[in-house]
Amino acid sequence: MALGITLLIAAGLAVFIMTPLLTAQAAGEGTLPVDVTLTSDLKRRRMVVYENLQDLEFEFKAGKIAREDYESLRNNYRAEAAGLMAATLEAEKGDSTDAMIEREIAARRAQRRAQTPDDYVCSKCGYENPLPVKFCGECGTPLGKRKKKG
Ligand SMILES: [Zn+2]
Repeated sequence: MALGITLLIAAGLAVFIMTPLLTAQAAGEGTLPVDVTLTSDLKRRRMVVYENLQDLEFEFKAGKIAREDYESLRNNYRAEAAGLMAATLEAEKGDSTDAMIEREIAARRAQRRAQTPDDYVCSKCGYENPLPVKFCGECGTPLGKRKKKG
């Protein structure tokens, strides 16, 4: 009888642990969810480690594993969680740096466009080309009327 109950609990735990993993996998097959980023992935993995830690605690208290195994596994999980935490902080720092660079580039582009509108904005159709061009990308009118020094 006791064996049957143990198997039942083990099966329940397996389903409990596998479900979020399977769900994440299924979601990845179709259209990608918007929040699939490095940081969200790291957070998800950290949550899995925490869940494993809780399970481990539970199993140790239930007398299923030896203290030695429990302590070494617990240390492994904690090290893994700490590593993931550090990686998350690193990734978040990277995100904000990227955003800062993006803003900087956008600001410089806007500034350049303001200084040399002839290279970007078509005088005929008014189309704003993304780069300084010789001919309008929309209607083909020659642009860039600045005189070259030489
Ligand atoms: Zn044009």
